[in-house]
This record gives sequence, C-alpha cells and structure tokens, in this order.
Amino acid sequence: MVNIVLIGKQGSGKGTQAKLLAKQFDLEHINTGALFRKHIEEQTHLGIIADEYIKKGELVPDKFVFQLIEESIEPDIKGLVFDGFPRTLEQAAYLVERYRIDKVIYLSLPIEVAKKRITSRVECKNCGKTYNLLTSPPLMEGVCDVCGSVVGSRADDKPEAIEKRISEFLEKTKILIDFFSKRDIAITVDASASVEEVFSELCEIVKELF
Ligand SMILES: [Zn+2]
Repeated sequence: MVNIVLIGKQGSGKGTQAKLLAKQFDLEHINTGALFRKHIEEQTHLGIIADEYIKKGELVPDKFVFQLIEESIEPDIKGLVFDGFPRTLEQAAYLVERYRIDKVIYLSLPIEVAKKRITSRVECKNCGKTYNLLTSPPLMEGVCDVCGSVVGSRADDKPEAIEKRISEFLEKTKILIDFFSKRDIAITVDASASVEEVFSELCEIVKELF
C-alpha cells in the first residue's frame, strides 16, 4: 500500500490532481465530502446521520468521518489518496495511527493566484451550469450557453468570503504541515504551474514510494 495525502487550498487543483494520481497509480481516491454526498444520496445509515449534522450547519463528528473512510476502502487496492482529509490535528493523528502514510503533499499557491483562480469561476444563476472565465467561458459574455440567463460569481466566491476562507485555511494548514513535517513525510509542491506540469511533478514523487 502506498498512502498519500494531498493538502491544498481552493484553487490549488487538489481535487483534479487527486483524481489523476488515483488513476495513474491505481489508488483509491478518498474525498470525504464526495463520499458523504454519495451516502446521503443513497440514504445509507451513515448518510442519514451525516445529513442531520450538515442540515444544522454543523461538522459531521470525527467518529462518523472515520467510519466513512473505513467503509469506503476497497480490498486489493494499491493505496489511498486522501483529498480534503485530514482537516484537524485529531484527524491527522487518527490517520497516521490507522494507516501508514507515505507522503503528505502540500500544493502551495500564492494567495493572489488562488484568488484569481477562484474568481474566474462563475455559474448560471438559473440552471447552475459552471464556467471558468480563463479556460471555458460562456460563448457570450455574462450569458449562459444553456438557458440564456445571467452568469455571475457564486455567492461564496465574493472577494471578502474568499479572503476569509484563505486565511482560515492557511492557519489550519500550518498546524497540519508542522505535524507531518515532524514525521518527515511532508513535501511542498508549487501548484501555480499548469495542471500537466504539477501532475508530472507529483508523479515523480509518488513513483519513488512504490
Ligand atoms: Zn443556465
């Protein structure tokens, strides 16, 4: 088993890179947010519990998050790539105790680049179709290709909200990176390069672990 953790702020391409790595090295992609959404959709026992917390605007308690992870791991898998987990020291401690973690990769991104990437994301106010102004803009500026409604930034992508999310993220992440650095398994990769360039750098790192 080769188990890796990807840490990166919004806009760092963490989710994309996790998916690519999972495919390349036959690893299981563990994204707790997506896994909970799937459980909620399927109305499983765990999904029903998680939904209650989420509806109240609360975090799902760790014991259910841990249960979710344990239930999600398929037998015969070559390894795991954790995406969006851990977020706290308690979760990090659980992770290193329960699974042998080979590498924690921090996708670092200058704040200005992160902001630019996030603000380039827009969506249709009517049908919800998402666009990226840099890579996949609507055909006509500000107008949805699908339904013709107004396209604009998401409510949680307003500059003040982004600033707040980034500073909260950096504060929490520093604690995690320190924790993994003490175990000599943390490495930082510059995520401001293109998806392809970052991916090839990650591949070099992960290849060494097998
Ligand atoms: Zn639309």
